[in-house]
Amino acid sequence: MENCIFCKIIRGEIPSRKVFEDDQILVIEDITPQAPLHLLFLSKKHLVNCLDLTAADDGLIGYIHRKAGEMARQKGYAESGFRLVQNNGAGAGQSVFHIHFHLLAGREFAWPPG
Ligand code: AMP
Ligand code: ZN
Repeated sequence: MENCIFCKIIRGEIPSRKVFEDDQILVIEDITPQAPLHLLFLSKKHLVNCLDLTAADDGLIGYIHRKAGEMARQKGYAESGFRLVQNNGAGAGQSVFHIHFHLLAGREFAWPPG
């Protein structure tokens, strides 16, 4: 998508702090971290949010979850716990309308979330 900020990051038109990249996903550091570890798992395919998914995306979403777990373990947060969050719609806090998952770790998390 031409004017999508995450598509621009994926295309390399906007700089980012890359943590991992392959043909399906890009993992970057969040520019405004909300925890000691705050990574964003971006789908390389432009999808708005869960409402945009089709059965063809089932593998992608499962893959992101598995890679998030791997990353949390690799960063040392398997025991302490971590949070994987995905906001759907402005009313739920989505501010970038390109599907992404937040991996947050390194502090205590309240439930229910704010
Ligand atoms: P959400 O509010 O769930 O849509 O999450 C969007 C996230 O993208 C926020 O946590 C922002 O801090 C983050 N963000 C926005 N612009 C950038 C950027 N250029 N590089 C890295 N993270 C960004
Ligand atoms: Zn996009």
